[in-house]
Amino acid sequence: MLKGKTALVTGSTSGIGQGILSAFAGAGCHIVMNGFGDEKEIETNRMRLQEEHGIRVLYSSADMSKPESIEAMVRQAETESGGIDILVNCAGIQFVSPVDEFPPDKWEAVIAINLSSAFYTIRGALPKMKEKKWGRIINIASAHGLVASPFKSAYVAAKHGMVGLTKTVALEIAEQGITCNAICPGFVKTPLVDNQIADQARAHKMDEQTVIRDVILASQPTKKFVGIEEINALALLLASDQAASINGSALAIDGGWTAR
Ligand code: NAD
Repeated sequence: MLKGKTALVTGSTSGIGQGILSAFAGAGCHIVMNGFGDEKEIETNRMRLQEEHGIRVLYSSADMSKPESIEAMVRQAETESGGIDILVNCAGIQFVSPVDEFPPDKWEAVIAINLSSAFYTIRGALPKMKEKKWGRIINIASAHGLVASPFKSAYVAAKHGMVGLTKTVALEIAEQGITCNAICPGFVKTPLVDNQIADQARAHKMDEQTVIRDVILASQPTKKFVGIEEINALALLLASDQAASINGSALAIDGGWTAR
């Protein structure tokens, strides 16, 4: 039932976004890939997905901190792929610092990429979804959209904001065949977390295995990273017609972290 629809996944050149993009490609959706990275690698991946799945794969290098680039990406998806049926907001960055030492430019960047970009993509994509009377918006928030951790003020504020945006949009579009939900993962082993492991190992003077067990996964009761394939499965469910009544939810997939 997703065959032939167009899915745009922001931040899909790496990690969770790349996984979700491949999952929608596997379900027969045309896809719009976005994010930074090595140009050659991105083009190779684009061609591979296109050939493997017999779908159209567009790539947009739009910078999610720039509203005018986001608008251009949405227009490109409309003119070259008939509009966005499934929008997954996944682009994100992290910065860790005590709040009174938090560099203002880092604060602005985290809020712009992790929160405001979702406002601009939703604002751009909704009119076409309303016209088609069908749409799915999936915001990749975080367990940090539900609970806080120290030294992540901008990230926690952005992710809580994303959950609030999700609920508001869900109420506005509830009667129009569109749903808007947030996925709130615990720790997933991606480049974003690999960087934190290295930083924490230096800061705590620990080896990386100890950091993973005692620092990174300290609040994740399963003591296991969430698998990208588990997030893919949830995203596919939310995009399906069987999930038509799941709207405005913030779905934790965190091994029990936020059950505490
Ligand atoms: P990642 O670093 O592997 O991927 C981030 C993606 O965002 C990349 O494709 C990158 O190019 C893109 N990106 C960054 N800045 C951008 C910009 N200005 N414009 C366009 N694209 C940009 O990270 P990830 O772990 O896969 O994280 C993806 C999302 O999942 C983020 O929103 C993150 O907050 C969220 N998340 C991650 C975890 C985790 O443990 N990894 C947990 C919860 C939530």
